[in-house]
Formats: sequence, structure tokens, C-alpha cells
Amino acid sequence: GMPSAPPPVLAPRRKSRQIKVGKVMVGGDAPVSVQSMCTTLTADVNTTLQQIAELTAAGCDIVRVACPSQDDADALGEIAQHSQIPVIADIHFQPKYVFAAIEAGCAAVRVNPGNIRKFDDQVKEIAQAAKDHGTSIRIGVNAGSLDKRVMEKYGKATPEALVESAVWEASLFEEHDFHDFKISVKHNDPVVMVRAYQLLAEAGDWPLHLGVTEAGPAFQGTIKSSVAFGALLSQGIGDTIRVSLSAPPVEEVKVGLQILESLNLRPRRLEIVSCPSCGRAQVDVYKLADQVTAGLEGMEVPLRVAVMGCVVNGPGEAREADLGVASGNGKGQIFVKGEVIKTVPESQIVETLIEEAMRIAEGMEEV
Ligand code: SF4
Repeated sequence: GMPSAPPPVLAPRRKSRQIKVGKVMVGGDAPVSVQSMCTTLTADVNTTLQQIAELTAAGCDIVRVACPSQDDADALGEIAQHSQIPVIADIHFQPKYVFAAIEAGCAAVRVNPGNIRKFDDQVKEIAQAAKDHGTSIRIGVNAGSLDKRVMEKYGKATPEALVESAVWEASLFEEHDFHDFKISVKHNDPVVMVRAYQLLAEAGDWPLHLGVTEAGPAFQGTIKSSVAFGALLSQGIGDTIRVSLSAPPVEEVKVGLQILESLNLRPRRLEIVSCPSCGRAQVDVYKLADQVTAGLEGMEVPLRVAVMGCVVNGPGEAREADLGVASGNGKGQIFVKGEVIKTVPESQIVETLIEEAMRIAEGMEEV
């Protein structure tokens, strides 16, 4: 068929320089990528690779691993080699691990200059090693570990302080003609974080890695990240994102992908359009929506499934969707592409929806 117009987005993408993180392009017109970080001991290669495989299956584009010890540094080669997605080594404090990660074949290295003593003196060699190996860098500025000089000037991690620190560190690499880096300026307060990225976006064309640090447990962290990333991405700011949750990293990937899908920055996959229920509901909407969601989990097709509690908005919404149910009087009217195809007793709503979804999905392309 005819290619359809791309779905609308809220703002044109900010023009950022493009860099390579292994096989994934970041910045420019590359799709906004989703990152997460392993929670395993990096030195435990098998467990780490297992988690990377799970993250890859969940849709993660780039994965980061911590490297706090020599055992971890020694494991990087095997991990980088066997991971299906690019691996970024996360280095604090010890510049020797930066070199180890570059030599091990990591796609990129995250450095936090605020946590590396005498960082300025090492930049030349880091830039050279990274250039030689085609490794990119993330300059990860963090509110909790700001450069001492900047902290003395601003007193606390204000947006201006985060940006000054980042721009300074970027200039150190640029002085050595190294440009393959992206920047993050993370803060745990979405307001400070959003302002910092807005300022940073104006200060240069660096690709930006979005993150709210220490965003919290799943519920709070999901909301903080969604609000902050949503504010920035809706202005075209952000080239790669990492949702940080005190929850398994696969959850971070799911949230990240859902944020991008919500803003049409990724093709939408399964979408459940379910009503909140109210006094008019003639069916247990929560249960029905949960059962349908569970039954369709993992579907990779752009399917909108409406689950409506009564006939007020029910049929209307159900008609707009690819597939839907409007319930009433112990029965469910099943709609496909706007047509009632059958009416089933309440007890058969879930299985009928799943059956029809599978049938429609077979005729659709995966996204
Ligand atoms: Fe209430 Fe019906 Fe709307 Fe659901 S579809 S919120 S039950 S009016």
C-alpha cells in the first residue's frame, strides 16, 4: 500500500551532532534510543550477559555496566563481545578503567569528570585512546558529584552550575579535537533537570542523554521521568534516554519505550484504550483491562484495543480502535474496525478479544 504520513510530533527535533555508540547512532536524525543499566556484578559475565539479553528482548538499544573494580574491568571484553547491543562502561574515580574499557572494545565510556581526580590532565590521553578505538564518550555530569570549583561558585547544583560544568568538560575534549561525545546533566529534581537541559541545548549542538537521577521507586520514578523527558522531548530536546528506577532494569526499558511511543517518537505498538470506569459501568473494567493487557503482552503490532465499561462512550471508542469491546447487561459487543462482529457473554469477552487481536495481528506488519 501507499506509505502513510509519519504521525505528528510536538516539535521538530533539535539539530544535534550525530555520534556512534557501537552500531547505534545517537543524535542528528537518529531515532531517540533507550538505554538501561545492568544491576548485576559486571565481573559475573554470564549473569550480566543474561540480563543484557533480557534487556535486548525488552527493546533496550544500549546498555551500561558499572566498573568499580579490576575484576569488572577484566570482564568488559567478553561482555562487549557477546552483547547483542552496544555496551557502555560506566567509570567513576579510576581513569585506568577508562583505558581498560576502551581497549576491551566497549562501544562507549561514561565518565564523570567530577568524580575523577585531576581529570583535566587525563583528557588528552582519553581522547587519543577513544579516537584510536572508535569509542565514544558520555560526559555524565551529576548533581551529586559536581566539580568542586563549580560548587564553590554556585553553592549548590543549580541548572547553571550543571551546565557550566558540562560545557567546561566538553571544551576539554574539544581542545583535543575530540567530538564523539554526548552529555548528560542529571539531577533528581525534574524542574532543575529540565532547565539544565534546556540551557545546555542552547549552548551547543552536543547530542544529549536525558536522565533524572535517583528518580525513585517504580511509581514515582516513572512519573518523574515521564514528566521531565516529556517536557524536553516535546521541545525536540533529547537524543537518548535512560529512565532510572529502583526496580528491575527491564521496567526502565518499558517505561522509556512507552514515553517515546506516547510522543510518536517511536511507532506505537499495542495500546489499550480503557475507560476509568464510573457508576455507569456494567462490568469490572479494571479486571477486564488487566486481563486483556496480560493476554496481549508482548504483541509487536500497532494495535489499539478498546475496553469500555458501558454503552455511553463504549461503542464510540470501540469503533475508533482496531478492536474493542463495549459491555452492558452481562454481554460484550465486540467491534473490529468499527463493525460489531459479535456479541458474547461477559465470561467470553477476554478470550474473544485475544482471539480477534491475534487474527488482526497476523495481517499486520511488526513494527
Ligand atoms: Fe463510565 Fe461508561 Fe465512560 Fe466507562 S465508558 S467511564 S463506564 S461512562
